[in-house]
Amino acid sequence: MVENLSYETKNGWNRISGEEKEKIFSFAEGYIEYLNEGKTERLACREAVRMAKEAGFCDIAEKESLSVGDKVYMVNRDKSVYLAVIGEEDILNGIRFVIAHIDSPRLDLKQNPLYEDSDMTLFKTHYYGGIKKYQWTAVPLALSGVVYKSNGEKVEVRIGDQPGDPVFCVTDLLPHLADGQMQKKATQIVEGENLNILIGSLPKAVDEKDEFKTAMLELLYEKYGICEEDFISAELEAFPAQAATDVGFDRSMVGSYGQDDRVCAYTALKAILETKSCKQTSVCVLVDKEEIGSMGNTGMRSAFFEYITASLIEKLKGNYNELMLKKVFRNSKCLSSDVNAAVDPNYPDVNEKKNASFLGRGIVMTKYTGSRGKSGTSDANAEFVYEVRKMFNDHHIIWQSSELGKVDAGGGGTIAQYVANLDVDVIDCGVALLSMHAPFEIASKLDVYMAYRAYLAFYQK
Ligand code: MN
Ligand code: MN
Repeated sequence: MVENLSYETKNGWNRISGEEKEKIFSFAEGYIEYLNEGKTERLACREAVRMAKEAGFCDIAEKESLSVGDKVYMVNRDKSVYLAVIGEEDILNGIRFVIAHIDSPRLDLKQNPLYEDSDMTLFKTHYYGGIKKYQWTAVPLALSGVVYKSNGEKVEVRIGDQPGDPVFCVTDLLPHLADGQMQKKATQIVEGENLNILIGSLPKAVDEKDEFKTAMLELLYEKYGICEEDFISAELEAFPAQAATDVGFDRSMVGSYGQDDRVCAYTALKAILETKSCKQTSVCVLVDKEEIGSMGNTGMRSAFFEYITASLIEKLKGNYNELMLKKVFRNSKCLSSDVNAAVDPNYPDVNEKKNASFLGRGIVMTKYTGSRGKSGTSDANAEFVYEVRKMFNDHHIIWQSSELGKVDAGGGGTIAQYVANLDVDVIDCGVALLSMHAPFEIASKLDVYMAYRAYLAFYQK
């Protein structure tokens, strides 16, 4: 007689040892540090490279050829990084990929952002990714990015998230005068063109035209050496200034901006850095542009992914042809590590509870995402789902299976579909979040740790 005929997921906290509980809490400390250091794709990429170097990885450009046990990374335009540990088997037997994204929803400065109005100086923005615009008002914001001056010099800007820094914000209307606003649809309560960031209110000492804007330009020149035209060749991003922190009396959760998808980025990164030896070559890719459809040459749809994989083949085999690359992809497996939406007790109606993820029930396996009848998804094959399920069970990893919301409640997509199109077996496996895409997202520390253990088991098989 078979035991456990029925299946249900259970909360993980009572199914772990005291020792593992300690590991969960200490792992979260490193995660919180990474969140605070890497609040943009550029910063997250840089921190990943710093950690990789510390763990003995070197730039692939330094290697003429590669052999078993080598650890290399390659950075794509400062916004994406590909890290590899060379396995014992022939690379033509395939690679084990874990791919996460390091861009998050935010407010990007427009290319000509600076203006004055009503005795204040402001930056115009164009929001990036799917946000509820009303959530981004009256929240302290920090600013980071790069500016290229007319002489070609690169200026790095980072202000608002370090101790003692000033912050910025988008102002909101007081309730007393919001009668008209409160009648509007939520999509129109705050208009995209009104997400303007307040950055100053001091005029020039002498009354003149544009006295506030001029004073700000002088200040920016003094501080950064930049002038107004330099914003054209800049990428500056505004994001919540608040540091990542423990949540709850019991400190069982992490609250922070940008956990979609840096929770999977950090756990995948830690796993690749700690991969001692592997049969198949292990690769962690941290990509950009997922939140706007994975377009662009730093996103998952870029040929960069094929280029660097081809480079690995060439440096391992001493030669290369296109059929080799196709063979590698055909034999490869991938965990598309992205977040899922945990059941929120305040909004239980958007999920169907038998097929939903819960905080604290472990890493989430998502066979398909999509919307309107699985449109726009890679629906993982049952054969590969079985492999991943077996691996999780064999390694005593706490896991759950989930859709992204109930049928026709909405939906979404991940990078899995683009990887699948290359002929790779892929499934979404990541952490369940509350308040996804809000300035403050919530994850369970247990789920974060289980994601890390899952990726490590996938690599070290
Ligand atoms: Mn995501
Ligand atoms: Mn997202």
